[in-house]
Amino acid sequence: MTTDSPLLSVRNIRSGYGPIEALHDISLDVFPGEVVTLLGSNGAGKTTTLMCISGIQPLITGEIWFDGSNISSMPAHERLKLGLAQVPEGRRIFPRLTVKDNLRLGAYSRTNKDEVRTSEEYVYSLFPILRQRASQLGGTLSGGEQQMLAIGRALMSRPRMLLLDEPSMGIAPLLVRKIFETLAQLNQEGMTILLIEQNAHLALKLASRGYVLETGAIILSGDSSLLVADPRVREAYLGA
Ligand code: ATP
Repeated sequence: MTTDSPLLSVRNIRSGYGPIEALHDISLDVFPGEVVTLLGSNGAGKTTTLMCISGIQPLITGEIWFDGSNISSMPAHERLKLGLAQVPEGRRIFPRLTVKDNLRLGAYSRTNKDEVRTSEEYVYSLFPILRQRASQLGGTLSGGEQQMLAIGRALMSRPRMLLLDEPSMGIAPLLVRKIFETLAQLNQEGMTILLIEQNAHLALKLASRGYVLETGAIILSGDSSLLVADPRVREAYLGA
């Protein structure tokens, strides 16, 4: 389900690290209610693109618009308040805090305790294992459970859009399945998602559209059904 104006619009951005330009001229749109995936090999610039959107990585030129506002120079915490929540690569949960405290940190900018409690219940309903582990330290969870916690923590800010960086990385297949089923459920409930995922089969199954990055530039984009059929995608990312 899409409407005419994008929720997120990335316009001709360039970004890099010191003298090295990692993104050359990236433009992409994500419409409300869509799941869009970014495909590309290691070092193509996927993570850098996501960090530019969440505000961790500065732009050299170009613009990023979210819900009609130019957020190009807005600090990351303000973008989060606007509803853009990132689930970073490698999960980055707090290993010495309990699961419950990790979740509550995700709601740090919210003041209504009843509403925060409701969000916590919602996260537990999505990932029942987190309720069982609520008083355990984050660091004692398996990789897959930590990924669920990282997604849960992002949801605690009540985002309008989730930015996900490699949610299946290093995770047992059964838990990967659970995580992708939950992402599909979130999307059915209206969540807009931009997804980086090494497993292109999974990514193109969940997403309705995708962009393919190569050395800092988009070389191909389109509906997932077209990308799945494209010989370049099949050869490079689908092992066909
Ligand atoms: P991966 O799947 O390996 O994470 P990616 O597509 O996400 O790859 P990026 O991590 O965005 O790619 O990297 C894009 C380019 O920027 C690469 O050439 C990479 O070496 C470089 N790069 C990334 N992070 C840094 C950094 N902190 N300092 C210097 N160069 C970096």
